[in-house]
Amino acid sequence: MPIELLPEEVIGRIAAGEAIERPASVVKELIENAIDAGAGSVHIEVEAGGRRLLRVTDNGAGIRHAEIELAFKRHATSKLRAVEDLQQLTTLGFRGEALASIAAVSRATIVTRHRQEEMGASLNLRGGFIERLKRVGAPAGTVVAIENLFFNTPARLAFLKSDATEKRHIHWAVLRYAMAYPAIAFGLRQDGRERFRSSGGGELADVVANALGLKAFRSMVAVDSLEALKPGRSRIQVAGFASLPSMSRASRDRIILFVNGRAIQDSALSHAVTQAYDGLLKTGAFPVAVLLITMPPDLVDVNVHPTKAEVRFRDSQLVFVAVQRAVREALLGAADAAPAADLWSATGFTDDAVAYHNAQPAWRKASADDPFDDIGLDSIPAGADAPNRPRTLPVLRVVGQVGAAYIIAEGPAGLYLIDQNAAHERVLYQELIDESANGGVESAALAESQTVLLAPDDAETLREASDLFAQLSFEIEVFGPNSFLIRRAPRIVARLLAADYLPRMLESLRLSRKTAERVTQSLATVAAVRSGQIMQREEMQTLIMQLERCPAPFVSPSGQKTLIHLSREELADEFRRS
Ligand code: ADP
Ligand code: MG
Repeated sequence: MPIELLPEEVIGRIAAGEAIERPASVVKELIENAIDAGAGSVHIEVEAGGRRLLRVTDNGAGIRHAEIELAFKRHATSKLRAVEDLQQLTTLGFRGEALASIAAVSRATIVTRHRQEEMGASLNLRGGFIERLKRVGAPAGTVVAIENLFFNTPARLAFLKSDATEKRHIHWAVLRYAMAYPAIAFGLRQDGRERFRSSGGGELADVVANALGLKAFRSMVAVDSLEALKPGRSRIQVAGFASLPSMSRASRDRIILFVNGRAIQDSALSHAVTQAYDGLLKTGAFPVAVLLITMPPDLVDVNVHPTKAEVRFRDSQLVFVAVQRAVREALLGAADAAPAADLWSATGFTDDAVAYHNAQPAWRKASADDPFDDIGLDSIPAGADAPNRPRTLPVLRVVGQVGAAYIIAEGPAGLYLIDQNAAHERVLYQELIDESANGGVESAALAESQTVLLAPDDAETLREASDLFAQLSFEIEVFGPNSFLIRRAPRIVARLLAADYLPRMLESLRLSRKTAERVTQSLATVAAVRSGQIMQREEMQTLIMQLERCPAPFVSPSGQKTLIHLSREELADEFRRS
């Protein structure tokens, strides 16, 4: 579209105002123009914090010779024609004000050549007045140089902060656009020194690592979600990176948000990001995040603020939820892959995590130290190192027990119904495997040795499998033809009567191959909490926490399903169905 003056009725409808408050605002506007012009590379040079010089060079479409003067008129734009266009904006600019406002408070020089023209043009302005226009040879693209910013507005000049502060603002303005547009190569030089460079290779990860530093980037997880707005219609996409709880800052200043390619400041949205860390970060600690939010343009109104840094959403709650959920899911999903060291602080027993689990003080004590004996059921030991494994289920909060058989738990992704017996079997089995791998199954001397008289075939099975029982740290002596003396047993059955569980173990062994795996599994089966047993809340929470870190949490070792998950969507669908 050619550059034209906006009609009066459109000017009246756009949120006009003075947008140039500091050098970084100039940089922002010039970068936006370069992006709108389709540039593949944008280079920024700065001297003296932008007071002396700001120069932005792009290889975009350029400006036609015939339109160059018009470009510096207020309300002259190639991006908007009618009020209705505001609903479908695909450009960052639309008011036609920036060049005019910047030129009015500086000495401006623009050298540009339109792609389809042979010759370029050079235009000089001082305080907004044209001093010289001439034809020049120039590469396709545009260079805008702004010198002596605010030379004619001493009040604004006086308001500028130290060079260091203005440099930092400029630096961050460049970083933001580089992250929002990974396919554009950005470069920043301040006082002759290269401060930032991105390749334009199109990978957000590269730019984020480059902008925030590799160390910070390593503490972040990818966020990538498609959130259905109305089924089958518009969608909100949230993509980017968010810090693991092991990294945080004392303020929200590194929650960097873009909506449709526009860097925005929105306290509700950064609050949504922070809320996704509920229970994972201490109060006063804030995450680092770079999130690119994409949605149909008609769902967001950018015409509300002169610097275009604030937007209005047609349904802000929807966007809020989409962002929060995307981040939360990324955090919980990442727990799988993240190293245990990260997980410890991420989802381990920090005070906040404990609070999140809604735990009772008794439970907290029991899981933090080792005395399990304080807990009612000794068949559910907390296993001192149980939490130090990657998480395989999200953090679940116990809601209650039904039918003395199932635990109801709630997680960020919906509702979970857990079969207490199958789940405990899985947890115990894993514990036994881990103990065997780490020096042997933990055993306990029985308070009193137990004599067990077995049926002849059970006695035969026990004799055959005596090595396997020894591996499980049983100490069994032959006491008579079919009777045995038990002196030590694995900790998890130490309080049970051998006469109660041994026959069951042996029977299941006789029916299958007598392998270490099978005998371990049968031990887990006999020691697991039964269906029909009422559990205390702390016991349920301990069990769930252990299940959350089992490598295979969804089935018991004997192949039974441990849990049923009903996602929020499934629940909502279920209720919508009439
Ligand atoms: P807006 O971006 O809101 O249209 P500006 O004052 O920033 O207003 O720019 C006015 C016009 O000048 C733009 O609409 C565009 O046509 C042209 N223009 C400005 N900068 C560039 C650039 N770097 N490359 C090509 N065209 C540009
Ligand atoms: Mg502009």
